[in-house]
Amino acid sequence: MMQSLSGYGRIVVKIGSSLLVEKNKLKRDWLESLADDLAELSRAGVEIIVVSSGAIALGRGVLGLPPGALKLEEGQAAAAVGQIELAQAYEEIFAARGMITGQVLLTLRDTEQRRRYLNARATVGTLLRLKAVPVINENDTVATTEIRYGDNDRLAARVATMVSADCLVLLSDIDGLYTAPPADNPLAEHIPLVERITPEIESMAGVAASELSRGGMKTKIEAGKIATESGTAMVIGSGKRLHPLRAIAEGARCTWFDAHSTPATARKTWIAGQLKPSGLITIDEGAERALRKGKSLLPAGVTEISGDFQRGDPVCIMTADGREVGRGLVAYDCDDAVRIIGHKSREIEAILGYAGRAEMIHRDDMVLKDFG
Ligand code: GLU
Repeated sequence: MMQSLSGYGRIVVKIGSSLLVEKNKLKRDWLESLADDLAELSRAGVEIIVVSSGAIALGRGVLGLPPGALKLEEGQAAAAVGQIELAQAYEEIFAARGMITGQVLLTLRDTEQRRRYLNARATVGTLLRLKAVPVINENDTVATTEIRYGDNDRLAARVATMVSADCLVLLSDIDGLYTAPPADNPLAEHIPLVERITPEIESMAGVAASELSRGGMKTKIEAGKIATESGTAMVIGSGKRLHPLRAIAEGARCTWFDAHSTPATARKTWIAGQLKPSGLITIDEGAERALRKGKSLLPAGVTEISGDFQRGDPVCIMTADGREVGRGLVAYDCDDAVRIIGHKSREIEAILGYAGRAEMIHRDDMVLKDFG
């Protein structure tokens, strides 16, 4: 039944406020139907990540704030109150379907600064490995105007690329992209597939946004650019009905955006080419053999460190005779890295005084050079 979606390995589903909240109250029956769909995908082996809006709208209701624009502090207070209610609803409704949920609140810096990005990525990855569904929102309570996404469309796209998801589903109050905003233009035609986001496609989005969702089609197209350029396909579909994912899978009207390349390729391009390595890590022959077999680089296989780098920075992996084996993002600052080289991973905590990662460079953060 869910074939067109269950073919993906990892899906991020973004839920807009206007779907989840009506008159500042949670639409429980809708969330239950979505949870049914997600449980079905999860049983089919798909990893699910939810990016949910709704905190501010819910908090507004609980606090009895008047309609209209909120002051920054009021919005933050509303988010603080509403996020608890939101998380509680997810926990209850997903648990009833055998799914564990984990709340992750992110700020802009968490995806834009590499160190924080690696941390957030590791946490979300661990939740998935432990079979929990990450339920993500922007941390609106501490985000200020200058340093926020402000819309969950782009947040969801950044999350999707961060975890190398292969599909991003934006559930919205509209069933996709039209040649012009259909509210102002009755002749606007629906577009089922966007192969590439051109300036013409961008101009179709207009600027429309409803009061509840800050996004509108414009931020959805921006999200599409972020996602598709990193190898994540995107679909905008209507969440106005119950079981919205089942509907998309069964061919309901929606707009698909093709991914440009596979996530692995995009990520590897990013690590291999676009970053300036800030250090050199020399490894022994055993470690090189292990890397060739697809293993991570452990501190035990490292013989020498040079350069001034921080955790999350790109470094070159070298052999003793100066050959570059590959590149990767290192999991330790250079001062700490030097102290643990040649040691077993289980000794790291005793040496550094904290339990760091077992790997110096995790294989997901590494690209090996071609060796003909
Ligand atoms: N993060 C905001 C909230 O919950 C929503 C932003 C958006 O609607 O895109 O409540």
